[in-house]
Amino acid sequence: LAQPVEIPDSGDEAAAVALAFNQMSQRLNQVFVMQRNFSRNAAHEFRTPLAVLKTRIGLFRKKQDFRPQATLELLQIVEGEVDRLSAMVSELLELTNLERASRGERLSSGQLIRSAADQAAPQAEARSITILVDAAPCTLAGNAELLRQAVCNLVENAVKYSPAGSVVHIAGHRDGEWFQIVVADQGPGIPESLRQRIFEPFFRVDDSRSRQLGGAGLGLALVRAIAEFHGGAVYVEKSRGAGSRFVLKLPCEQDPPPD
Ligand code: ADP
Repeated sequence: LAQPVEIPDSGDEAAAVALAFNQMSQRLNQVFVMQRNFSRNAAHEFRTPLAVLKTRIGLFRKKQDFRPQATLELLQIVEGEVDRLSAMVSELLELTNLERASRGERLSSGQLIRSAADQAAPQAEARSITILVDAAPCTLAGNAELLRQAVCNLVENAVKYSPAGSVVHIAGHRDGEWFQIVVADQGPGIPESLRQRIFEPFFRVDDSRSRQLGGAGLGLALVRAIAEFHGGAVYVEKSRGAGSRFVLKLPCEQDPPPD
């Protein structure tokens, strides 16, 4: 880590340069610590599925029970853990390669929201969750695939953390130069003290429950990175009743929508 230099009390240009240097190195140190934590957390996340694989394969070899049932059981576990690792690698790559993406496409807010709702429909149906869509027309500019992914992550989370038989509401409305996509659910909600932290990579509110549901805690970090890449933002609003209300704010174009 960069060490601060002593600031001379001359009050002249040299003191100003030393002060600027210290401020810059403080910022660099913060970024360095963030990067180090990111790598440490990523390594930690990889260790869990790898340990499961190692133990299960070791046991299988030790027992030498090659009956179809036992073999199938092992394969199922191996496949599940490999899927989890691949999903994590894809999310990590997306998060770190975002800056290279293009963002010149024009897309309609209606299509964006409908495609996210369609993607989450099978998971919702399996648990009798109703997805209600209510979107005003607007033209958005950016990377269609990334924006679709951001909305999908919010909708899939809403479905994943909601009780069976509940309702997930996706609404889109224009607010001046912004288009706001609100994803509201009737799940457990996010404690107020954690409403900023859930957007940090690898952060989970309930570690064991989220792990069981298959998430690495990268989904919302990706939503935030995509929102900021487009000049927008994402946050959790205080909800009136139970449940969570995520707001994705994106800049919108002034002319009429394509559909
Ligand atoms: P994960 O892959 O674990 O779902 P995310 O980054 O998408 O990771 O979300 C981070 C954490 O925020 C989750 O582990 C979960 O605890 C919490 N969370 C996200 N969305 C919701 C929601 N709609 N309702 C309740 N908790 C949520």
